Amino acid sequence: MDYPTRFDVIVIGGGHAGTEAALASARMGCSTLLLTHNIETLGQMSCNPAIGGIGKSHLVKEIDALGGAMALATDKAGIQFRTLNSRKGPAVRATRAQADRILYKAAIRYVLENQSNLTIFQQSADDLIMQDDTVTGVVTQSGIRFYSQTVVLTAGTFLGGIIHIGLEKLSGGRAGDPPSVALANRLREMPFRVDRLKTGTPPRIDAKSVDFSVMEAQPGDTPVPVMSFMGKTEDHPEQISCYITHTNERTHDIIRAGLDRSPMYTGVIEGVGPRYCPSIEDKIHRFADKDSHQVFIEPEGLATHELYPNGISTSLPFDVQLELVRSMRGMENAHIMRPGYAIEYDFFNPQDLKHTLETKFVHNLFFAGQINGTTGYEEAGAQGLLAGLNAGLRAQGKEGWYPRRDEAYIGVMVDDLITLGTNEPYRMFTSRAEYRLILREDNADLRLTEKGRELGLVDDVRWAAFCGKKEGIDQETERLATSWIQPKTEQAERVQQKTGQPLAREYNLLDLLKRPELEYDDVASLRGEPVDNPQVAEQVQIQVKYAGYISRQQDEIEKLRRHENTPLPEDMDYSGIDGMSNEIRQKLSEARPETLAAASRIPGVTPAAVSLLLIHLKKRA
Ligand code: FAD
Repeated sequence: MDYPTRFDVIVIGGGHAGTEAALASARMGCSTLLLTHNIETLGQMSCNPAIGGIGKSHLVKEIDALGGAMALATDKAGIQFRTLNSRKGPAVRATRAQADRILYKAAIRYVLENQSNLTIFQQSADDLIMQDDTVTGVVTQSGIRFYSQTVVLTAGTFLGGIIHIGLEKLSGGRAGDPPSVALANRLREMPFRVDRLKTGTPPRIDAKSVDFSVMEAQPGDTPVPVMSFMGKTEDHPEQISCYITHTNERTHDIIRAGLDRSPMYTGVIEGVGPRYCPSIEDKIHRFADKDSHQVFIEPEGLATHELYPNGISTSLPFDVQLELVRSMRGMENAHIMRPGYAIEYDFFNPQDLKHTLETKFVHNLFFAGQINGTTGYEEAGAQGLLAGLNAGLRAQGKEGWYPRRDEAYIGVMVDDLITLGTNEPYRMFTSRAEYRLILREDNADLRLTEKGRELGLVDDVRWAAFCGKKEGIDQETERLATSWIQPKTEQAERVQQKTGQPLAREYNLLDLLKRPELEYDDVASLRGEPVDNPQVAEQVQIQVKYAGYISRQQDEIEKLRRHENTPLPEDMDYSGIDGMSNEIRQKLSEARPETLAAASRIPGVTPAAVSLLLIHLKKRA
């Protein structure tokens, strides 16, 4: 056949994991095949059209720092941008963008089609070609055989997918798409531990049938944030508002009355759903004392009237969905364009993976995204990038790479999944990271772009911009450190106006910036010119203001790294450790970790508790 059938890397699935995987491997110079059900659904957002949010934007910025597509596509498609937690510290600050789902798909498809070394082919992958316990290729639905050094599987919610609307069941990978049954059956013959999870989505509403005048408008922030380190506000399309309405007691009565036809409450659905993104029937049940829940009415795009009512994901029967939607203020005449539904699908126990996301049972086969028990585009994209990168490294005969927990949220997520597994859809939160002050979204590039360049993931344009930024930070820090303000001058008076205190002696600008009352903009122009790059200014401010905390965290990381292989005695009596909470003592007693590093990875075991463990060990010695 005169058609390319041999590749370095084959990626199955063109969702968020698959597209980042294929792009990463192709960027590294590996000939890559992206095999997906339908080219029209490349980069499709199966659920809410939004990217980022707390913990999730950290992943998006890390994907971006490693040359990935998600953040840039978000900048091209975002129709409402907000900075969440803007009044809190930089560690938990997060960027969230409402996206136009059509523009998002177009942006992703554009990047894919213009990526060298990447071939896209539309067809279902139905089987894996195996040589002993090594994968060597893929067979498509029509029997075409593609061969490769490595394969990345990113089949999302499609493996054995079953859609539920009320007590009606149908096979599907998501609404409108067929499931992946042949491949699911093939994988079930392999030694992987397979289980079922479920997720759900709300009904979509026609904006023409909604009365926005009685809802609260929620505009985006100004100045409008960007998602990518390379992003510009000018790249954004028109910005529009979201709206807020609420459920009420009548809504809750309607839901309760429909529970006898709910697949979740009648035991039809077995898979566990996302705890942090519950269905509305779940919320009514779990928070029975609440008589109202907020519902964000989010536009799905600029060229469509479709709305996504965020907060009422449901698998109740259609007639109940219609009644509950119409019980909310502004929705009295709402027309449902697509019913909500739940989907159950196969996922693989991520404890059967290595940190590179290669499976332990099949060599050269990598898993990424929803099939590893995660939920969310960002979690999927981040794993996709890591799996694609490692599939590429393997094809090139090189050592694998993955970030440590103190280097990236990607490292935290993969380590959590691989060491602890999951029995519910895993999503990222800042609270999962021990070293939050170091793993900020604003410094993802400073943490990862050099490594990305070394791995071949970062192109010349991004690299030049990164080097310029780094140099700018050094130069500006140096300028502030060497620019002095004398007491009783006009500049000293400006400082006094902000701080309420006269300058008692000569100060440089760097020391002034450490004062809580003063921001970069207050001090930078006291002498000389402030930088005109807002990313540089932001970095200088954060690095100076949080220097003490950051260096303390760095010390902790160093200390743990030095001691991570320290064994913990089998007979250790955790109840006798001074200063440790009972909860942590109990966790350690139950888990009986073998080393200090293993202890540090137990959820809830804080870096402070690890330090206490270390002190205790020294005392015992
Ligand atoms: P997907 O985006 O599902 O992509 C899988 C891709 O693989 C698709 O392109 C598919 O066509 C292709 N594919 C599958 N099998 C094959 C095959 N055999 N051959 C070729 N191609 C194949 N996330 C949240 O964070 N919050 C939510 O509330 C939420 N709700 C959801 C509700 C529903 C109904 C669904 C379907 C998803 C929901 N998600 C939610 C999850 C979110 O959509 C996923 O986390 C994310 O899309 C996962 O990305 P992925 O790349 O792993 O898989």
